[in-house]
Amino acid sequence: MKNLYRLLDLTKIIINEIIDYGASYFRVKKFKVDIVENLALKNANKNNPQAILDTIDYYAWNEAFLMNIGDEKGLLLEKAIREKNPANCLELGVYLGYSSIRILRNLHENSKLTSIEASNKYFEISQKIVSHSGLSNRWKPMKGKSKDVIPSLKEKYDFVFLDHWKDEYLSDLKTIQRQGLLNDKAVIFADNVVLFNMEDYLSYVRNSSTFESKFISTMREYSKTQPDGIEISIFNKDD
Ligand code: MG
Repeated sequence: MKNLYRLLDLTKIIINEIIDYGASYFRVKKFKVDIVENLALKNANKNNPQAILDTIDYYAWNEAFLMNIGDEKGLLLEKAIREKNPANCLELGVYLGYSSIRILRNLHENSKLTSIEASNKYFEISQKIVSHSGLSNRWKPMKGKSKDVIPSLKEKYDFVFLDHWKDEYLSDLKTIQRQGLLNDKAVIFADNVVLFNMEDYLSYVRNSSTFESKFISTMREYSKTQPDGIEISIFNKDD
């Protein structure tokens, strides 16, 4: 029964996304991400990251679903960043730049974030929003599919945030590992592992001796009833 509810909720989100995309394609109404971009740039003063996050959260709670990490899990992401104090972060899946802002505002002066986004539209919007937040000086956005961009990466990372296509979490993590892009004790923070029933990914990080993994139960972003969760896995280089 629980699975059925989860499936219905997920189906509802996907259908709404398709309707929204279709309506904006046929110019019946504005695409919701364009509306959010305008609101974020207009309502929030420049260099005020919190005002941007508040604007996006308000829209997602009251107008239409947005696939950001959201306010509840977003605070867990920020806490994980502060605890790890990473020098170099990697983010897969940027969308509107919401989580990039949450990561960037917790980084120390010399730390930085590289973010990979496959969609042209989201890539452009996130650039405008993050730059409006005043946090883009330590941010390197890269456009392309993660599986195409990751092989070009040369630096090592201490923190990886996974929030892109759900069927790519596992293969991308394996590529990142194979390429030696993880520093010892790197933190892998994966969103939506319950909502999308990510058993393959979870069984990999939980059963591999290379990772020490813990699960935190949460609600899905912008929902008070739909279960979700995040998985935080720590990489042990020598295992
Ligand atoms: Mg997510």
